[in-house]
This record gives sequence, structure tokens and C-alpha cells, in this order.
Amino acid sequence: MNIYNMTRRELENYFENIGEKKFKARQLYDWLYKKRVKSFDEMTNIKKEIITKLKEDFEFYEPQIIKAQDGKDVHKYLFNLKDNEKIEAVLMNHDYGNSLCVSTEVGCNMGCAFCESGRLKKRRNLETYEMITQILLIEKLQNIRISHVVLMGIGEPFDNYDNVMKFIDIINDDLGIAIGARHITVSTCGIVPKIKEFSKDHRQVNLAISLHAPNDRLRSKIMKINKVYPIKEVIEAVRDYLKENNRKVTFEYIMLKGVNDSKENAIELSKLLKGLNAYVNLIPYNETSHIEFSASDKTTIMNFYDTLKKNNINVTVRREFGSEVDAACGQLRSNYKEEK
Ligand code: SAH
Repeated sequence: MNIYNMTRRELENYFENIGEKKFKARQLYDWLYKKRVKSFDEMTNIKKEIITKLKEDFEFYEPQIIKAQDGKDVHKYLFNLKDNEKIEAVLMNHDYGNSLCVSTEVGCNMGCAFCESGRLKKRRNLETYEMITQILLIEKLQNIRISHVVLMGIGEPFDNYDNVMKFIDIINDDLGIAIGARHITVSTCGIVPKIKEFSKDHRQVNLAISLHAPNDRLRSKIMKINKVYPIKEVIEAVRDYLKENNRKVTFEYIMLKGVNDSKENAIELSKLLKGLNAYVNLIPYNETSHIEFSASDKTTIMNFYDTLKKNNINVTVRREFGSEVDAACGQLRSNYKEEK
């Protein structure tokens, strides 16, 4: 078991099970996440016998960064995992801090037509430590602190629910990486039973839903998950989430030229979201060489924005980041494969 897989609660149970006091978990966390040591031998305030036991039960393995691409305010990293699978993470330097876009799976089974990640079927879940070390390795390499995390890299977070929730708990833990819940965003393509479970878990992190279309006909064409969980069920689950959690939800909407960017689409979207405590984030599409879709032009995006505004929908346009560094989900990874 990798040590970075363990939440503080799990470590407390571990210590109790081996007949030790549970506050040892705090000491261990201090070494892991504040002092950032990379071996048990460096944990000088922990007894020899416990260190020996820890070494038997846990390992410190970290993936490796094998490629980096640097653009202005955006850096993209490719990681090699223990079994030689590859994943990526994207760092964005905003004026409010450094935000990391983290991958949650190797590949993705959701098969959204516009998305590069889905070109590779899911091969496996990421373990929690493989998400944690995306943060640790990049912070070390760049000598920075990451203040915001978005779970919008390769993979569907709600298709790897338990490992992702442990990841959130560790990065949100004050004694762990200590990133505030409001600075963590989990994004899903709309797996309804998991939205319901997430709602009951009451984690205070932000929820984003990849909506991308205002009706089932269109959404089913570009997101096959819609055939399993149609829009009405997604909206219903979000409505319940809002009641239960008193938080706001963001709907992501990629602007695809001639597909979902007309005035009628904007009007229909306004009607769909009316009365919900929700934000729409219009995302300029990052074109990729393997996929047919193109990005809506700026005027179309602004017209769409205006229509939503006029209809009293809270809306923002996402700042374009990283088109120069293959930053669309899964691009660095798939381009790397093709170079080889
Ligand atoms: N599976 C999750 C999270 C990963 S994708 C989800 O679907 O939400 C994160 C966001 O990036 C999603 O909204 C996804 O639709 C969007 N995305 C995928 N490919 C993109 C591209 N080429 N350009 C812009 N956004 C893209």
C-alpha cells in the first residue's frame, strides 16, 4: 500500500490496530505533507519499532514526470506510472494563485465525441496516491504552492468515486495539503447515482457538471452518457444537491461551432436552468487534430453569453488557457504516444 493512499482517519485506525496512539497519524502527516520527507527514516520523532512496522506495511513510490511543456502561465506535465501507463496534469498560473488540473483515471470510458481523453478507453482507475503525487511532484519541481485543484484532467472522477473522495479528503485536510474546500472543484459528465451520493457526503467542494447541450437530442449526439442519464435526471439530481448542500453548481458548456452555439440553443439553455442557483461557464473549445469539431468564434460566444445574461442566467467565459501546449484533456498524452 502506498503511504499517500491513506487519509488521516485511515492512518488513525491503522495506528490503533497496531496498538499505538492515534495521534501518531498527525505526526506522520506532518512529515508527509508539511516537511515533505520521502522516507520513513527521516521521521525522527517516531519510534524505531514503529518505523520498522511502517516500512513493512507501506511504500513511498512516486510516479515520474517524463515530459513538460511550458507556455505562458500554463505548464503541462506527462507522468509515467508504476505500470508504465501515462497520465497528465496541467498547471495554470492565475493572478489569484496556482491551479492544477488533475487526472483521475488512465483513459476514460465516457466517450464524449469532442474529447481527446476518451479516444483511449479506460484502462484503470488512478489510485489516490497517483493523484496526490501529481500535486507533490509539481509543487517540488516548480517550487510553488498549488492553491486550487480542479478534477478536470483525464478521466471521469465519479467513475473512480472512492479513490477520488480520499484524494479530496487528503488535500483538504488542514494537516494534509490544506487546500480549502472552496478551492477544489470536481467535474462530472453527469453520473446521476454518484451525484446523489456526493450530495449526501456533504463535502464542501465545488461541483461542476459538463452539460454542453440544452436538450437530449443534441446532448446524446456528443455525450453518450446522456443515453444512460438524460438531462432531466441530471438537473433533478443537481436540484436535490442544491437543496441538500446550499452551494452553487457550475454547468460547463463547451462552445462547438455550428453544433450547440446558436441563439436557440442559448434560449433553450436559459429555460432549462431557470431558477437554479447555477452558473454557466462557457468554454472555448480547444481544437485537437484528431477530432472533427471546431471552436465557435469569439462573436458567437459573446452573443451566446449575452442571450444567457438577458435571461438572468449567471454566466462567465473561461479564459483560454494552454492551446499552445496541447492543454485540452488528454492531448499531451495522445500526442506523446504518436511521436513514439
Ligand atoms: N469527466 C469529467 C472531467 C474531465 S473533462 C467531465 O466530463 O466533466 C473536464 C472538462 O473539459 C469537461 O467539461 C470536458 O467536457 C471538457 N473538455 C474536454 N475536451 C475539451 C476540449 N478539447 N476543449 C475544451 N474543453 C474540453
